[in-house]
Amino acid sequence: LIELRDVNKHFGELHVLQDINLTVGRGEVVVVIGPSGSGKSTLCRAINRLETIESGSITIDGRPLPEEGKGLARLRAEVGMVFQSFNLFAHKTVLDNVSLAQLKVRKRKKDEADRRSRELLERVGLAAHADKFPAQLSGGQQQRVAIARALAMDPKALLFDEPTSALDPEMINEVLEVMQQLARDGMTMVVVTHEMGFARSAANRVVFMSDGCVVEDRTPEDFFTNPTSDRAKDFLSKIL
Ligand code: ATP
Ligand code: MG
Repeated sequence: LIELRDVNKHFGELHVLQDINLTVGRGEVVVVIGPSGSGKSTLCRAINRLETIESGSITIDGRPLPEEGKGLARLRAEVGMVFQSFNLFAHKTVLDNVSLAQLKVRKRKKDEADRRSRELLERVGLAAHADKFPAQLSGGQQQRVAIARALAMDPKALLFDEPTSALDPEMINEVLEVMQQLARDGMTMVVVTHEMGFARSAANRVVFMSDGCVVEDRTPEDFFTNPTSDRAKDFLSKIL
């Protein structure tokens, strides 16, 4: 579904993505881990074309990423992204936050969009909070709204960039559980996270990045029990 071939990108002198090759099949969950600054966020952002690349190719369903305009809005609906900061509209209700892009991008009627939003809020356990404003919710609840909002676009795939890093510890699990459920339901997901429990239980593959390179790309069992590169061994010894 998502395919990166020999992708390169620099920020000035820094070679932030170096000959990246990565394939994410339909229904696959790929967890991306690695030290700070290794290029994980840039990789995610490139798939959504929030960053441009200098060489190589990225395709979704065999088609190259659109350059601009309407195609780009469609891409970002088809491949949704959930960030560390939830980026909800503070002055809009939870329901409106989930409905808004459905009206604009998917051209749904308001009542149809709201119906779909309520279904999705139910799915992420927030049916009772539809008429509240984001500030009235906990961080974990706000992140679940952000997930519902991404789901409302009927995406082919979802990208998560450290979705639980900004949360208090007691709220991390409620978000991971929603993500686990999505994984079980067959959603294609690329997840940058430090939550190794999630990687072990939900990932089909773990991709380990270091200094702009994909150093390992293997099943979680393989990766955690038998990392082959020194860089991965070093990284795991620090976090496990
Ligand atoms: P973290 O775990 O801290 O989130 P990361 O693996 O997500 O790290 P990136 O955010 O992809 O890393 O950044 C990779 C490198 O590129 C870092 O050295 C960062 O400082 C640099 N970088 C990221 N964005 C830009 C930018 N817009 N301009 C210049 N340098 C950037
Ligand atoms: Mg990052």
